[in-house]
Amino acid sequence: MSLTLPVLPLRDIVVFPHMIVPLFVGRDKSVAALESAMTADKSIFLVAQLDPANDDPDRDALYDVGVVATVLQLLKLPDGTVRVLVEGQRRARLEQLDDGGSHLAATVEEIDDVSGTDDKEATALMRSVVEQFENYARLNKKMSADTAVQIAQIEEPSRLADAAAANISIKVSDKQALLVELNPARRLEMAFAFMEGELGVLQVEKKIRSRVKRQMEKTQREYYLNEQLKAIQRELGNAEAEEGGDEIAELTAKIAKLKLSKEASAKATAELKKLKTMAPMSAEATVVRNYLDVLLGLPWGKKSKLKRDIPEAERILDEDHFGLEKVKERIIEYLAVQARTNKLKGPILCLVGPPGVGKTSLGRSIARATGREFVRQSLGGVRDEAEIRGHRRTYIGSLPGKIVSNLKRAGTSNPLFLLDEIDKLGQDFRGDPASALLEVLDPEQNNKFQDHYLEVDYDLSDVMFVTTANSLNLPQPLLDRMEIIRLEGYTEDEKVEIAKRHLVTKQIEAHGLKEGEFTLTDAGLRDLIRYYTREAGVRTLEREIAKLARKGLRRILEKKAEAVVIDANNLSDFAGVRKFRFGVGEEEDQVGAVTGLAWTEVGGELLTIEAVTVPGKGQIATTGKLGDVMKESVQAAFSFVKSRAPTYGIKPSLFGRKDIHIHLPEGAVPKDGPSAGIGIVLSIISTLTGIPVRRDFAMTGEVTLRGRVLPIGGLKEKLLAAMRGGITTVLIPQENEKDLVEIPANIREGLKIVPVRHVDEVLELALSRPTTPIDWTESDELALQPSPALGVAQGEVGEPSIRH
Ligand code: ADP
Repeated sequence: MSLTLPVLPLRDIVVFPHMIVPLFVGRDKSVAALESAMTADKSIFLVAQLDPANDDPDRDALYDVGVVATVLQLLKLPDGTVRVLVEGQRRARLEQLDDGGSHLAATVEEIDDVSGTDDKEATALMRSVVEQFENYARLNKKMSADTAVQIAQIEEPSRLADAAAANISIKVSDKQALLVELNPARRLEMAFAFMEGELGVLQVEKKIRSRVKRQMEKTQREYYLNEQLKAIQRELGNAEAEEGGDEIAELTAKIAKLKLSKEASAKATAELKKLKTMAPMSAEATVVRNYLDVLLGLPWGKKSKLKRDIPEAERILDEDHFGLEKVKERIIEYLAVQARTNKLKGPILCLVGPPGVGKTSLGRSIARATGREFVRQSLGGVRDEAEIRGHRRTYIGSLPGKIVSNLKRAGTSNPLFLLDEIDKLGQDFRGDPASALLEVLDPEQNNKFQDHYLEVDYDLSDVMFVTTANSLNLPQPLLDRMEIIRLEGYTEDEKVEIAKRHLVTKQIEAHGLKEGEFTLTDAGLRDLIRYYTREAGVRTLEREIAKLARKGLRRILEKKAEAVVIDANNLSDFAGVRKFRFGVGEEEDQVGAVTGLAWTEVGGELLTIEAVTVPGKGQIATTGKLGDVMKESVQAAFSFVKSRAPTYGIKPSLFGRKDIHIHLPEGAVPKDGPSAGIGIVLSIISTLTGIPVRRDFAMTGEVTLRGRVLPIGGLKEKLLAAMRGGITTVLIPQENEKDLVEIPANIREGLKIVPVRHVDEVLELALSRPTTPIDWTESDELALQPSPALGVAQGEVGEPSIRH
């Protein structure tokens, strides 16, 4: 049947028969076409455009086949466009298009389906299509669930094909192909095929969607966990770890800001790059972070401004330390050279002396005088090279060495670095720390110091190294690098002054006592030194004063007193019972007991030598802490006494019946064994003759087999010890008399110092009564042969050099 109808060209949709669709119509011609339809029987011809962008299509721009539709509803919107609801009725072919009026009009020929499919095939096709559509509907989110239900209820193949075709989202040209197909079976097949294609696409889409979703979920989960972690860390007060990203940024900024060496900067950047790729909380990241912390924590290029004012330095040294004139003078000279040459390439200062004489505090003063930071590292017991130079980073928990870690602590690259107790440096299989130290101290090498942990060179050439030692027992190469400055012990008077000027004030301040609340009188102080300390330095003294301050403070706080005055009378209330005896005047002279003088690393000391006779066969035994040298001098002394026995009133036959036992009870370990020689001879003679030794005498001197007294070392320390011990007279070797010029006047005045040449003089002076020689009888001759056990040849041996 041929009809003439207004035409509504469709841009992007194909309308099928029985399909109800809403359309938005904007073009004037189309609106006019609708109006025209409304005035007639509401029929309109709907046909798709080939090109949806075409605003004014002509015949060629339209497909050949469309549908005749009925307008069910028409709504004019305020903006002039129109919303219509149309229902497709039947397919129709466009015969002729007429663009004469306000709208398009067309003559169309309605077309019908062709038949010819057998029922079975149609039924099978329909089932497949329904099933396929269900699958399709399930995957296609845009489709409502009842669409599939409605479609499943359609019984007519042609309508089913149209309904399916209308509801799947395929291209306009594909839909048009379905519209044109007049054989319903063919149409079903085609619809099926299109759905299959679409299903494939939908499935892939779904896969992608779920993958994307999973990915999103994972990121979200991580984000969520990270946020929680941060919250926990914030709770724990660990604000630093809070922002992982910030850390990297911070480090980057730090690397840029610091004056790193080229090598260090490259290394830091490389490590940072590694850190970025690591999980922030992992163990490796911690290792890298620690490393960067050390590397970037070093005071690269950061220096204190140095003071070069020598008079000011002198003033500071004087202010901090009493006495030590020569030492301070040497230090000032050293600083003067430094200030002038503007370099540190000189020898390293080495302060040598017993403990507590102020070596460390001098170091601190030098730092103050030169404007340097002060760091101190004790080398006592350092046996491992790695302690100096660090462990390689391959070890878990490895650390930089002490040099690097102290520099980090100092915060500047030109501090004064005090290496304490350099003589106590050990050595074992883990490498030689001394050789590592040599490198540190060598101005030629130390601008490129390599720490195993750090891996990059660090310049130590601006560091002022100062070392301390108790003895000069050092490896020669180290000794060669150093300028030795000796600090001897203090006299009692010096200690009193040091205490009055420095130690007491320091402790008063340290204990928060107020002016006038704590007084230690001179007499009290002197007793404290005499009866509570026995040392070359003032370390114990300082401790004792601290104890007094503590007890004093307690009394004041307990309101037992307003102020504390400590005197000789009440000293024991604060300091407790006396720890040492001072002076020997009150004691009786004793047989066989002699006071010797020893030199040890901690200063001079009194050394009590005791000899007794026991029944035996002319042998000599020793107990106490005697080294080999000491044992030899005991035997030499014994031989000497035997050879001269009758001269001293000793019957040689006595040696057939008696053994001598020598003991050193005080436990001091003298380093200079031979210097006890004359003391040992004296104690043997005293015990064999029964003549007491004068208690207020002390002596030092090596003895030859013929009784000559040989010089000794450490005279000043020994004399100081004698002073401390309340000795009145000291016998020293004649050859040491020349050294007396270096001994402070107050020692020379406080002690009677008698130089001796021969043992006989010693006996004359130190025995409380003279010996009486006896006749040499034949029967005694036998006993004069040296005992085989002694193995010491008679006769003068070559004079040994001074051992000290
Ligand atoms: P060392 O390092 O030689 O063992 P220290 O430097 O530790 O000795 O000294 C111990 C204490 O004695 C320090 O408090 C120090 O200030 C003080 N001291 C030592 N000698 C003097 C001195 N001559 N003048 C002032 N204080 C001193």
